[in-house]
Amino acid sequence: MIRLNNNYRKLQTDYLFVEIAKRAREHCAAHPERSLISLGIGDVVLPLPPSVIKAFHEGVEEQAHEKTFRGYGPEQGYEFLRKAIAENDFSFPGCAISPADIFVSDGAKCDSGNFQELFSDDIRVAVPDPVYPVYVDANVMAGRAGAVKEGRYEGLIYLEGTEDNSFVPSPRDLPASGADLVYLCFPNNPTGVAASRDQLGEWVEWALRQRSLILFDAAYEAFISNPTIPKSIYEIPGAEKCAVEFRSLSKTAGFTGTRLAYTVVPETIIVDGMSLHDMWNRRHTTKFNGVSYPVQRAAAAVFSPKGQRETRRIIEYYLRNAAIIRKAMDDVGYTCWGGKNSPYIWVKTAEDSWTIFDRILNEVDVVIIPGIGFGRTGEGFIRISAFNARKKVMMATKRIIKVLG
Ligand SMILES: *Cc1c(COP(=O)(O)O)cnc(C)c1O
Repeated sequence: MIRLNNNYRKLQTDYLFVEIAKRAREHCAAHPERSLISLGIGDVVLPLPPSVIKAFHEGVEEQAHEKTFRGYGPEQGYEFLRKAIAENDFSFPGCAISPADIFVSDGAKCDSGNFQELFSDDIRVAVPDPVYPVYVDANVMAGRAGAVKEGRYEGLIYLEGTEDNSFVPSPRDLPASGADLVYLCFPNNPTGVAASRDQLGEWVEWALRQRSLILFDAAYEAFISNPTIPKSIYEIPGAEKCAVEFRSLSKTAGFTGTRLAYTVVPETIIVDGMSLHDMWNRRHTTKFNGVSYPVQRAAAAVFSPKGQRETRRIIEYYLRNAAIIRKAMDDVGYTCWGGKNSPYIWVKTAEDSWTIFDRILNEVDVVIIPGIGFGRTGEGFIRISAFNARKKVMMATKRIIKVLG
């Protein structure tokens, strides 16, 4: 008789995002005359830039002719793309990352969710709270989470982001028993906070000492505009021995619907006497057959000088949106984080997350995300996203101020 993976019954976060969609839908049905603006979900709105579209078209055209047609490509991604990535993202002084360390994939969501497969069931896993839910749920599905108690999994370690640590937990926040695997995400989703060189340095030093591993999600690195903030964990010496980095063109270049990401697994990481790179290669080549050729052509164009200029303008557009939201919140005296090296603004509110969510939805027709959706420490906060058209962002910001102000 067929039976289920009962770990799936323990999943919780799904309900919250389903709940947001449900409340928004009911609100629209009840008030069809009002115009709803969403500063909720983290999805981009601007189209792919011209040089990317041109390369994408060329890639499609090549597939139309026998001479240029391509079937299966290398699972790890075409050399032209891996080289372009390494040259653009990993060419800072002292950087040890080479094209061979890079695995091209169709998403940082899948990679950050799948990577835990390489480790034993009984490792101690630490996740941030508030958190991008994928890290938690992937470990729940894999059976590492244990029982649920007061909205938390007993088998996971929660690294709390609070006002006291400005939402950047440090290794000192870990229990005395330590951790084997730590998920970090900077600039952070949902708080919008970026970690300094010293803060990342502490994590790398800790991981090297404990022989633990850091899974570093850099999906928002392109939003870093302060030159003193590291964009990559590999800017910290030693990270090439203890950290895997996830990157994505989703938020960087508008690829949420086109799909291209990459994961860096340096050949220098050894776990239990095995090369982590070789293990991920085994996993990747077994369960994945590569990203579509035209998409890889489009992605390579992102790294051309023209593509870089064009994507930079897109990022600046969203950063300007974020600055508008952030300034409005600052002006009414709200305490907030992010919005500077990030498209997200994390706002402290006087009411609980769902009450303020309902008020903003019902009173002024704007959708935001209640902080509790990202974990227990998110209670009392909301996340506002800068991913929308300028006019809508300005309108929605004015509306939110009416409720908060
Ligand atoms: C959006 C996002 C990603 C990107 O996921 P893709 O699957 O590449 O679209 C990864 N991590 C975080 C934290 C994100 O918010």
